[in-house]
This record gives sequence, structure tokens and C-alpha cells, in this order.
Amino acid sequence: MKIFKQSKNIAARSLLALTALVILPIGTQTLAADAPYPTKPITIVVPYNAGGPTDLLTRTIATVMEKNLGQSIKIENVGGGGGTAGVGNVILAPKDGYTVLVTHIGIATAPSLYRSLRYDALKDLEPIGLIADVPMTVVARPNMAADNLKDFISFAKENKDKLSYAHAGVGSASHLCGMLLLNAINADILTVPHKGTKPAMDALLAGKVDFMCDQTISTTDKINSKAIKGYAVTSKNRLDALPNLPTLEESGLKSATVTVWQGMWVPKGTPATAIKRLNTAMQVALADPAVLAEFAKLSTKPYPVAQQTPAGLRTLHKAEIAKWAPIIKKAAVFAD
Ligand code: ASP
Repeated sequence: MKIFKQSKNIAARSLLALTALVILPIGTQTLAADAPYPTKPITIVVPYNAGGPTDLLTRTIATVMEKNLGQSIKIENVGGGGGTAGVGNVILAPKDGYTVLVTHIGIATAPSLYRSLRYDALKDLEPIGLIADVPMTVVARPNMAADNLKDFISFAKENKDKLSYAHAGVGSASHLCGMLLLNAINADILTVPHKGTKPAMDALLAGKVDFMCDQTISTTDKINSKAIKGYAVTSKNRLDALPNLPTLEESGLKSATVTVWQGMWVPKGTPATAIKRLNTAMQVALADPAVLAEFAKLSTKPYPVAQQTPAGLRTLHKAEIAKWAPIIKKAAVFAD
């Protein structure tokens, strides 16, 4: 496993674990795997800033998971590197079920975007299950002249050198959406990275950047209240919550169609009991009427139960790495 440099603490912990392995009688070593779980608070790492869509989605399910697990859940936001900083932290965390990761499609595009990525998420993480698939929207600052996608595209092509596109770092979903969109309209436009789409959206609202893609979780209310301009949805079909927005596909930009699948993982080596218990709690949360109502308002719904599983997430994660690799290669976009 190629990972970041180990901290002294982790090295000390490994030494301790090694000592324990040597002095414990046979039988006790497997006890850890069967130990009661959870007996203390759990941390879920979200690799984007607080207040962004992945953070909000995680907090929505965490409130129900807490009750089911009988332990509190702390959300730790580790923005940076388009999600790779937070994922790297989780891979280095103790493999005891108390550090969990929630992230999305970006985990499958990062290997093609970062030539020197120091981990392999497929090998270094253990999947818990798929959560939900969230559409994105193409949006612009409130005072953008264009009122619809067609006019915006013409404007963007004529003003390539003056516009800026905000995203959550190379490897984020908003970066992927922007890459697909700019390729589809054949416009080379300045892109501005942030540590999540919350700061990117703040910049858009302040008129510091011109346009971006963001998940419906963050944009639905803002589009409907006209706080920002909404031009299109990135899903295959139009959305009930944003009925006036065309799909990119119906606007002739099929190649930019993309939705943001979200999943939950733990570091490789986490005991099976913890994985099973976290999966149960996640599935309970995804069947909770309040969670479903909140998801519906945000134009998303949970994956079918059969995919809310380790196998469901592993299969999609692998397939998506294979799907995006040639597209990113063709676009010749790299983070490093
Ligand atoms: N999901 C990220 C966030 O929560 C943003 C992104 O991937 O575009 O900020």
C-alpha cells in the first residue's frame, strides 16, 4: 500500500499493536474483531468544507445513525485536494470502526486526475454501502446577463477570457461537471478551485466567480428563490423540484450528463462486526421517513437496498474508475 508518510503517533500505535500481538494469549487477538461495537463516539470524515452538499447529506443520515448506534457521531470536514486530503486521512486512521468516510464520485475520478496519488482507495478502503445519487445543476451568479442555458452558452463562448468557473478542487464532482461542460461547449475558461462547493457558492453569490455546477442539495432553494441563476440539470431527466430547468441532454450536451453517487467507507482492516453494524445503521437511516422527505426536497433518493451494501459500492466504485479514466485522459486534465 502506498500511502502518506506515517505520523509519529501512528508509528507508536503500530508498535503498541505489535506488542499486544506478541504478548496476548492466542484467542485474545481475535477478540478485538468481535468486541462490542460501538462503545464510543464515531467520526465521519467528509472531504469537503462544512455546509456543502456532501456535508449536508452526511449530517442528514448521521442524526438517524446516531440513534441507531447509540453513540454520537462527529462530522469532521477535511477540505482540500478535491477530496483527496480527507480520503488520505481516513486511510491512515485506526482501523477500528470509529473513523468513517463519506464521499462521492470524486473518489473514482481522482486516480485519473492525480498521477502521484499516494493511495489506492479500492485497496485501502473497505466499502460500507451506496447512499444516494444526487443530480447537479449548472448555475451562475445572480446578475449574469443570460437567463437560459442557450443564451449563457453563446455568452460564454464570446466571453471565454473574461469568465471564471468555480469548483471544489480537481477531483471534486463540481470539477468533473465543469470539465465535461466546458469540453461539450468547447470553451477554455479559467477554473477556480475551492475546498468545497460551500466556499465556491459563497464566491458565486458574492459575484467573485461567474458560474459553477453544484448538487441540487445546495442549489434547489437558491435557484427557486432566484438568489442564483439556474440553467440546466445534469441528470438524464428533469427534476420535479426544478421543473423549468432543461437537462443538458435535451440541450444537446449529452456528454456532460453526470450525477453524484455518494457512499460510505472505512479503512481497510476494520473489523467485520463494525462494517456490518455501520451498514445496518446506514440502511436504517436511508429508510427513515424524515431522511426520505429531506432527500426528496433535494431531488435525491437512496439507492435500492441491494446497493446499500459493501458489494453494491465496490461494484460501482470499480466501474466508475473504468468509466472516467478514458474520458479524463482524452480531456488531458491533470491536478499535478
Ligand atoms: N461535494 C462537494 C462538497 O460537498 C463538492 C464537489 O464535489 O463538487 O462541497
